[in-house]
This record gives sequence, C-alpha cells and structure tokens, in this order.
Amino acid sequence: MNIHEYQSKQILREFGINVPNGLPAFSVHEAVTNAEKLDTPVVVVKAQIHAGGRGKAGGVKLAKSAEEVRAVAQELLGKVLVTHQTGPEGKVVERLLIEEASKIKKEYYLSFIIDRHTASVVMMGSEEGGVEIEKVAAETPEKIIKEYIDPVIGLAGFQAMRMAYAINIPEAAIRRAVSTMQKLYTAFVDKDCSQLEINPLVLTEDDKIVVLDAKLNFDDSALFRHSDIAMLRDESEEDPKERIAAAAGLNYVNLGGDVACMVNGAGLAMATVDMLKFYGGEPANFLDVGGDSAPEKIAKAFSIMLEGGQAKGIFVNIMGGINRCDNIAKGIIEAAHIISKDGSSLPVPVVVRLEGSMVEEGREILRNTPITNVFAAPTMEGGAEQIVKLVAAAKN
Ligand code: ADP
Ligand code: MG
Repeated sequence: MNIHEYQSKQILREFGINVPNGLPAFSVHEAVTNAEKLDTPVVVVKAQIHAGGRGKAGGVKLAKSAEEVRAVAQELLGKVLVTHQTGPEGKVVERLLIEEASKIKKEYYLSFIIDRHTASVVMMGSEEGGVEIEKVAAETPEKIIKEYIDPVIGLAGFQAMRMAYAINIPEAAIRRAVSTMQKLYTAFVDKDCSQLEINPLVLTEDDKIVVLDAKLNFDDSALFRHSDIAMLRDESEEDPKERIAAAAGLNYVNLGGDVACMVNGAGLAMATVDMLKFYGGEPANFLDVGGDSAPEKIAKAFSIMLEGGQAKGIFVNIMGGINRCDNIAKGIIEAAHIISKDGSSLPVPVVVRLEGSMVEEGREILRNTPITNVFAAPTMEGGAEQIVKLVAAAKN
C-alpha cells in the first residue's frame, strides 16, 4: 500500500527524523492559512499524488507570499498532473503539502528496499540525488552504493558511516547522516515497509540533514498489525477495478490492453499474459481467480473484466486442480445470464481453455450452451492465438 508524502513525513517525524515543517491542505483557503501558520518567508507548495516526478511536471512550486500560495494552490488543486510515473492519463491533485522551504546545499538519494537474493534489507545511496536519479541508475549505476543489512544486527554504525563517506557527505554532517540512516532503517522495520525512498535527502546550508521527499510503501500482508497505517489508504489513488476485485478476493492487476484473461494461479496467469503478447495481443489485465471456482466468483470476475468497455475479448485459461472445470463452465454461463439478461451471448467473444479435473464435464457444458460467442479451445497456445485474432477482427 502507498501513502502520500505528507503522511510519510508525519510517520518519519515520529521516529525523530528531521523533516521540514509542513501542513497538508485540501483547499485553496486552507493552503493560504496553513502557509501563514508556518510563519516562514518562503514555502513550497507540493502536489500530493501517489507518484514521483512531480518536480519536473510542475507539481512542486515555491511561493513567497500569501498571494503566491493562493495562485499556486489554485493552479494545482484539481489539475491532472502527468509525470513520468503516472502514465499518460495522469493523476488528479486533490491534496497539497505546504512546507517550509529548505536552503539546499546538496541533494542526495537514499532508499531501503527488500532484496530477495540476500533475503535482507538493502540500503542504497547516491550523491546524485534529486530529480535525475532514474538517469543515474540507467547510465552510471556505479554511482549507486549499496549496504546489505543483517536483520539480526540491524544497520550497523560502520555501515551507515561507510555509506555517508561513499556518497560524499561532508565531515560536518557525517554524524547527522549516520543517525538519520539508522532512524530510517528503524522506521522501515517497525512499520513493515516494503520500500522507503528519500529523494532528495538534503544537506542544508547550515549542514543539517533533512528528508525533503519521502515515499513509503507498506507490505499489504502486514497491514493487519498497523491499523493506523491502513487508515491512510487513499482509494481515489487506486484503480477502481483493482479495488473491487480485491474486495471480491480476486488478484487483479490492470495492464491497460484489450485482451482480458481469467486464469487460476499466478504462474499460469503470467504465462498466459506472455502467450497473448507472443501472438501480438495486448493483455488487459492479470487476473488470478485462485482455487475457488464458485460460479458467483467467476461471474464477478467477468463483470470486472467487462466494466468500462476496456476488454474486447476474454481468454479463460484454467488448469483444474483444486478448481473444477465444470464449475468454471457453469460460472461462465451464469456470468452470461447476469451480464446479458437472456444469457444468449456475452458482450465480447470468450475463448475457454480448460484442462484437469472434471474437464470433460466442463467442455460438455460449454458445447451445449446456447451462448453464441463462447468458444472452447483444446490448447493454451491455440486459445491465445484464437482470442487475439477475434479481438483484432472485432477492432476492424
Ligand atoms: P518529486 O520527487 O515528485 O519530483 P520532490 O519532493 O522530490 O518531488 O521535489 C522535487 C524537488 O523540489 C526536490 O528535488 C527539491 O529540489 C525541491 N524541493 C522539494 N521540497 C522542497 C523544500 N521543502 N524546500 C526546498 N526545495 C524543495
Ligand atoms: Mg523526489
């Protein structure tokens, strides 16, 4: 789960980490009054969306007076901000962070993430922090320094020190940088983060170390023990289809294309997405229905895939193990009834490949159905090829 920058900073503040004074604002009026409360000559008005790259996209602006705060807040609130992380559709700005401006001497990059190879948290740092970090990672990866953290020992002082020197933090701020790194690591572990990224971590003109931007991601499986964090969920930032699917117990990820697929098991779902791509299709989603093939669940999955007209065809690829193929077939017919009322056809062609438990019964049900645009495919390859062709034909 993601949260907003101002919420991340509030959490880090509780760990004694140095973040600028700031207040969130949901309206122009609130932006102006909060800027006055901060009582500082220069504030920064920052668009709060669940994506980075705001600086370059005009979502982070300095304001030197109440009038300037008003003007910037008016411009940003309600605006669709398109950054290199939002995708072309962008995100609507509904909240702002009004923050004291820091006097920056230098910007660094610092992040913590779980490294699967070493099964530990890795701290990454770079002296080339700020808005160009993706370029640094792509062109000069040697400028990104890593420290692997032993989960039993935690982030040792010498490791933080080694990082601070490696990214050229000046002598006067080394101790502060070390302490900031250790507090950040504590926050990462205590809050069950899956990612914690500070970009930039800054050295100010008076040699303080300040967290100027913060991105925290949490492990969904651990949210049950952090009700305070779960409360921060901002549903307006999430894909509505993904939200409805999660509530129905379906693993659904929107991939943006037009060939929907419904599969059981994450491995098979990924292989199916690959197969559709292989035949030139653009997968609309990743959807793992899991081991439960109750017809209502299948019908729910169908309605999610069809919602909004994104899908031009559906490929059902089921390996019946725990799932029973006859239940899947019944679910498809039930979905047709729910969606089309008379149950005679579905809004888009559906290719079904069934294999495994009760497969003959399942195929029999599909053969006998009066639904006109459901096709049974004997193999996964053949099915993928067929649905891609049907979708291409529907588009022409
Ligand atoms: P994003 O990563 O989405 O572009 P940031 O919060 O990193 O947004 O802001 C972009 C840049 O704006 C920073 O690299 C920094 O130079 C500047 N900036 C952000 N917050 C402040 C602040 N409080 N004071 C001064 N400059 C800031
Ligand atoms: Mg940033």
